[in-house]
Amino acid sequence: MTIRIPFDNTYARLPEAFYARQAPQPVRAPRLIAFNDDLARILRVSPGDLTEMAQIFAGNALPEGAEPLAQLYSGHQFGRYNPQLGDGRAILLGEVVGTDGLRRDIQLKGSGRTPWSRGGDGRAWLGPVLREYVVSEAMAVLGIPTTRALAAVETGEEVIRERPLPGAVLTRVAASHLRVGTFQVFAARGDIDNLKRLTDYAIARHYPDAEGPMGLLRAVCDAQARLVALWMGVGFIHGVMNTDNCAISGETIDYGPCAFMDDYHPGRVFSSIDHGGRYAYGNQPGIVVWNMAQFATALIQQMDNREAAAEEATEIVHATPARIEEEWLALFRRKIGLTTARDGDADLIADLLERMAAQGADFTNTFRALGTPAARDWFTDPRAFDEWEARWRGRLAGEPDPHAGIKAANPAFIPRNHRIEQMIEAAVAGDYGPFHRLNEVLARPFEDQPDHADLQRPPAPDEVVQATFCG
Ligand code: AMP
Ligand code: MG
Ligand code: MG
Repeated sequence: MTIRIPFDNTYARLPEAFYARQAPQPVRAPRLIAFNDDLARILRVSPGDLTEMAQIFAGNALPEGAEPLAQLYSGHQFGRYNPQLGDGRAILLGEVVGTDGLRRDIQLKGSGRTPWSRGGDGRAWLGPVLREYVVSEAMAVLGIPTTRALAAVETGEEVIRERPLPGAVLTRVAASHLRVGTFQVFAARGDIDNLKRLTDYAIARHYPDAEGPMGLLRAVCDAQARLVALWMGVGFIHGVMNTDNCAISGETIDYGPCAFMDDYHPGRVFSSIDHGGRYAYGNQPGIVVWNMAQFATALIQQMDNREAAAEEATEIVHATPARIEEEWLALFRRKIGLTTARDGDADLIADLLERMAAQGADFTNTFRALGTPAARDWFTDPRAFDEWEARWRGRLAGEPDPHAGIKAANPAFIPRNHRIEQMIEAAVAGDYGPFHRLNEVLARPFEDQPDHADLQRPPAPDEVVQATFCG
């Protein structure tokens, strides 16, 4: 084999209670769809020929040094505790330490059944694999902490969803796959030794300066506060913020039913299974706090003085909304071209958002166009924008170069839902052109790319995506 992955595994050194050793299950006719050369360089992964890469990233052959395993975790799904989830269709091959000194997991997703597959087939179909590839890479370029995509392969097999669909495997790269749910499973079982072991492992791997479980809680609350503010800033709706999809590293993980908003509304929901709107755009900050409360509850179980720990944990969790607000305000100030902070800025931003919601204004295009005559055209009644703009111009006085700031803070291109759906449809029909084009354009989201203006436009009425699915 010419492909080389310099594995340096630590998770596989943890006690057997943390995982089940499980090899990926081979597929019939793997074919490489995409390989992320830039990421591979950072990971020191040296690519092989196409056939070999298809074999490796489909799970048909194991690279030297891999120690494949499925990870155990539990979690709250839509607010209800499920005592055992675990990787039902993912296999951790191992870890590498990149040229940047960071340790990362390399995981196959869609690589067959595991002891935790329950009723599932352990597989993924092409649509979600391509969606995660495009969206996670777009998030990375937008500067939002996220898992990444190293490779995508077709399996040459069908998976049965509502209808037979082409199967695929994604190679996901993550700072780790530790989740709130990884802590919850040991806490719920009263397995304090392993809860302590996990806490030490998480601190060493992610927050070496954190002191003890409460230090870890503080660090994760902070990372999650920054993350959710960044989501809000690009109109991203995660869609399934269950505690098993809440990463300790502070990376965005699990791109199942995610979506970027077109026209702004705080109540926007896309996920077909989110009937109550629990994970609506505007609810995301509150859900982060709720998830951190679950994390705190799990961590406390290992403390000698639980009452004192509960008090400290409560204080940390209760400080999180203000942290989110602080991050959010700093970010939205930049979005409207402000480099200074003044009283009344939060109110100015809220006023714009209210007008956008009332007027069906496109989130991405409105912010990108601020300060140009085009901004008002995104409002059904442009006068609603004009009133706000006058107020904003007054506030802008004394800002050195708001236009440069606005272009740097507001992407021109996001992975719009309807383009993702069209890309998937084309791929299922055998045409990967739109997939590659989206990746290329989204690699430079802050640049005007006049040749690709069609990818900036919101959907035409018949292109609107009503719902997204987990896949
Ligand atoms: P998610 O909602 O994507 O976070 O997944 C929740 C749980 O369902 C996790 O334990 C997954 O591993 C599992 N799961 C999702 N899809 C499948 C599948 N096709 N086969 C087996 N397990 C699955
Ligand atoms: Mg998940
Ligand atoms: Mg998922």
